[in-house]
Amino acid sequence: MTSESTLTAAESLHEPQWDGVPQNWPLAAASLRSSINDPTARRTTRLADLHNQVRCLIHRARHEKLRVLLGVLNRIDQEIRRENEQGSADLSRLNRLIRYFDRLVQHLQKAQDEVPEAMALYTGSSELPELLEDSLRRSGFGAHPINLENPDPALLEHTGLLIYLAEDGVDNAREFELLAQLKKQLSACAQTLMISKRDDFAIRAAAVRAGIDHVITHPIDSARLNTLLTGARAYECDDEQIAVLLVDDMATAGIYWRKQFARANVRLLFETRPQAAFEAALAETPDVVLLDLYMPEMDGVDLARIFREHPQLNDVPILFMSTEERDQHRLEAKLKGGDDFLNKSIAGDDLIRMVRYRAQRYRQARAERRTDSLTGLLNHRAITEMVDSELDRAIRQEQPLSVVMIDIDKFKLINDTHGHPSGDRVIRKLSTLLNTRLRKYDGVGRYGGEEFMVVLPATSVETTVELIDRLREQFADSAVTTEGGDTIHCHFSAGVAGYPEHITPQEIISAADSALYVAKQSGRNQVQARHYDEE
Ligand code: GH3
Ligand code: MG
Ligand code: MG
Repeated sequence: MTSESTLTAAESLHEPQWDGVPQNWPLAAASLRSSINDPTARRTTRLADLHNQVRCLIHRARHEKLRVLLGVLNRIDQEIRRENEQGSADLSRLNRLIRYFDRLVQHLQKAQDEVPEAMALYTGSSELPELLEDSLRRSGFGAHPINLENPDPALLEHTGLLIYLAEDGVDNAREFELLAQLKKQLSACAQTLMISKRDDFAIRAAAVRAGIDHVITHPIDSARLNTLLTGARAYECDDEQIAVLLVDDMATAGIYWRKQFARANVRLLFETRPQAAFEAALAETPDVVLLDLYMPEMDGVDLARIFREHPQLNDVPILFMSTEERDQHRLEAKLKGGDDFLNKSIAGDDLIRMVRYRAQRYRQARAERRTDSLTGLLNHRAITEMVDSELDRAIRQEQPLSVVMIDIDKFKLINDTHGHPSGDRVIRKLSTLLNTRLRKYDGVGRYGGEEFMVVLPATSVETTVELIDRLREQFADSAVTTEGGDTIHCHFSAGVAGYPEHITPQEIISAADSALYVAKQSGRNQVQARHYDEE
């Protein structure tokens, strides 16, 4: 939570002053840099000036839905408040954050209409392979090179992913040494990935010693790469707070751990009774559950079994907390559904590290389960679940909802003429188009083979038809290069249906499907909609 203590009530109520805040992002970033570096202004004046600018920019980033900028601006805002209260004489942390912001803005300018949600850094003597660049983009990462010998600490501190492109013929040992150093400057949740042309024990061992989290060797397995990147994206300690559910019959445990966790930006849900704990777990979907082993109403082992029986909780990490020393009891507890066993006297920092580690693995696994490996899009199960949950929301909020079924036309012919790998390229081409042209909160999934499903919250069927039709034109106009180097054009047909015309997920999906059928029957390369009065 951000502390409001340095702002007066009047300040928080008023809109920020827009005078003098530049209209475009690069100028705004430059203005922040010159304000913080202004040697003539007093510290408090500089902070007040920055504060006003940042608040304007937060408004603008929110309005323009630039999530990645918003994230950094919020951190700058927090840092200004911190500096106001205590802070360093030289504003060095703030300075680094502003430099990072400046880099991001420069990057966004280059990326134009594809706005990344996070930044990945890469190091190495070669260019980023095309496949990697594409996968990064699709999982929401922008990529920025850094120099291993002399990296910018501002970038390191805030990245969620560092990629090392290991080359033959360079001094790997020296590079690994540097990487191990870099690793210390990354935030605790950042992931490191090595991409290596060599694949032997020695290089893998060196990678492990340097603390590298994942190794991918040539030829790059795009399915594995996609799942890794989606996983890395899913876990971001700055954006999304980890939630921990602690169940202990002693209320004092809650008070103690709440303080410890708050320091580490972990949200603690605390319950003393089993039933309340179960309900909280379902409502709040924690990333980790900490269970007291001995409780008067029900012991932790039984509660863990109840959690494990529920489909929504069957894979959440469960850690038992106890003073139990006897090996037999600990083993039993693990066999009955716990993942690990912690001594209640564990130091706060150790528990927090453990919780972060477990939460990271869990989020990664969850993201991987939801991902289609060829395209990095949501898979069949995840996208159909999204129809369910978005329909619930649409009904609750009295908003429309649209679902689109897309099927590539005459796809079998492409496979037959140019080979399966070329067919895969077409599939990836379309998924990139859908993923980059639709809004961040729209769901894009691979429904099967060459069929895609798109879920558009708060969008009417009419608007959706227009939108998808523009994408259809774009796709039909763009060329795909086959494995053999030929240039081919293909197109798709689409069917649209939605709420309120249809009111159950099954109805919506089957109406979209029959609209797609109509599109195919009417000559393909077109978008059709299905309303209930046509059935
Ligand atoms: P229509 O215009 O009627 O949709 O014709 P079509 O040829 O696209 O339709 P059909 O459903 O007959 O063929 C789809 C083909 O897609 C059949 C299958 O071999 C191929 N396919 C399914 N999944 C994949 C995949 O992951 N990669 C590739 N390359 N081909 C796939
Ligand atoms: Mg098909
Ligand atoms: Mg088809």
